[in-house]
Amino acid sequence: MSSRSPLRINHAKLRDAHGLLSRQAVYFPCTAVCRTCGKGFELTPERQRYLLEVRRNPVKSLLNHVVCLRCLPALREKARLHALSVRAHQRLEACIAAEREAPDDPKAMLAVVEAHLALLELVPRETSFERLVARTRRAAKHDASRGEPPYWEGRVHQLAGHVGAAYAAFERALEPGRKMPSAWARDARRRLEALATPPESSTETRFDEGSEPDEPASSSREG
Ligand SMILES: [Zn+2]
Repeated sequence: MSSRSPLRINHAKLRDAHGLLSRQAVYFPCTAVCRTCGKGFELTPERQRYLLEVRRNPVKSLLNHVVCLRCLPALREKARLHALSVRAHQRLEACIAAEREAPDDPKAMLAVVEAHLALLELVPRETSFERLVARTRRAAKHDASRGEPPYWEGRVHQLAGHVGAAYAAFERALEPGRKMPSAWARDARRRLEALATPPESSTETRFDEGSEPDEPASSSREG
């Protein structure tokens, strides 16, 4: 029932350098303009109090710096992605520095590739995929017994959209002679399957020509 009673302003909590609310004792609904979509919308007293007294935004910001509830989720998602990409960028820089320290270490080379791909998956942009592939090849030369270099080559090709090259690289990673952590081998196998199945062909096609009796017959109630 108290939702209709006026919401008092706690002036001590306001950042009101211009005294915009100094003559006001309670919050009134007001019209604001969303800074994202540019549309006018009603700012309820509850939201005003939240923005001003909890978030401690300046009172002046209510005039030109608010975002409507429809735009808020997209804005939050954008901020989240930005924070993630900043972290991914820092990680890439750190990996590049580590590679400079140990230029012959295949693990350092592959760490750069991994960090680079993580960043590209967050922020797609034009990149020299060839240079990343070259790094995985260099790592492969240092240790031909491991599956990781061709695995990461496959990941680069896959992101670049080179389906055939990605397929061949994952197959190479899974060659019997190569060693690789089992989780990565599983991932390589999953990726091979995904590459072999075009996304459209989700409907299963069955060829029942042979009528093999191996499968348990689902139609056992025939007349
Ligand atoms: Zn909006």
